[in-house]
Amino acid sequence: MVGHVLQDKHGRRMRKLRISLLDACNMRCVYCMPEKPHFTPQEDWASAEEIVRIAGHLCALGIEEIRLTGGEPTLRADMLAIAEGLSGLGARKLGLTSNGLLLGEKLEALKTRTDLRFLNISMDSLDRDNFARITRKDVFETVHGTILKARDMGFSVKVNVVALRGLNDHEVLDFVDWSGREGVAVRFLEAMNIGVMEKDFAQRLIPAREMIGEIRKHYKLTAQVGEVDATAYTFVADNGADVGFIASESEPFCGNCSRLRLTAQGHLRPCLFTHTGINLKGVAFEHYPAAIASILDLKPGGRMAHVAQPMYQIGG
Ligand code: SAM
Ligand code: SF4
Repeated sequence: MVGHVLQDKHGRRMRKLRISLLDACNMRCVYCMPEKPHFTPQEDWASAEEIVRIAGHLCALGIEEIRLTGGEPTLRADMLAIAEGLSGLGARKLGLTSNGLLLGEKLEALKTRTDLRFLNISMDSLDRDNFARITRKDVFETVHGTILKARDMGFSVKVNVVALRGLNDHEVLDFVDWSGREGVAVRFLEAMNIGVMEKDFAQRLIPAREMIGEIRKHYKLTAQVGEVDATAYTFVADNGADVGFIASESEPFCGNCSRLRLTAQGHLRPCLFTHTGINLKGVAFEHYPAAIASILDLKPGGRMAHVAQPMYQIGG
């Protein structure tokens, strides 16, 4: 760590913090969750106060963007209190990744009581039956309605679509059409070889280049310039669609990673792909600097071969 800047030993500056509020979820997406998952008991979660204190310390050291995730972050009863606490920390961007099932009823409070304005909402299909097949929950209308409501309320909304060969690859063009029509950005995520995906990863992966090639047969795509630590290639299509591709598997972006992670149990982690972390839950404030310095030293320089834990447990 150099001075007050969160810099790792590879010279990368950490400016993004992803906070998992819990690992539990009210969906069972086939690429993410086993049908009978084991979740961390509530008493082992970091408290709202601890989360805000740790995030506050990291913001003072240079974190500029914070995103809440899980599991499903809206399941945590104190999510709003946490978002309120994080709102006062001076982060430039405060965001949330959600499956959109319970989010709709929380939008008004998020808008009026917090600075949280950046929503990534997962919607892997535009077809009700296919949505239910992929998420194992028949709630397409609710999720779709929440996305449009959030857009209308002025949130910055991006829809996450995990692209899965044989499951929703026939909908890629529909999503481009939908994005242009509704004015909502879509991000296609390559399926990652992690957790339950490990068994049929090779069969399901659709490389981003393949999707881009397919879309280009129907739309003119103009590449957009992103930040150096951006995780997505983004384009504007000639129907007005804002489409992006997160090529975590075919073109990993780890070399420019600027992200730290805080797990639901209060472990600060340097990377999604390593099990290494330091438990800050119950740790006195004066010990944070040493813990953070060692986490920065542990940050891998590039993509690790194997992911130690499922995404929902670390915080996707
Ligand atoms: N429950 C929330 C949701 O689904 O948006 C937040 C947590 S979820 C783990 C965060 C993101 O990770 C979602 O967009 C989800 O689709 C994605 N995800 C989960 N497992 C994945 C996998 N194996 N490959 C690619 N993306 C995955
Ligand atoms: Fe839950 Fe999100 Fe995983 Fe789906 S992707 S099972 S909504 S954590």
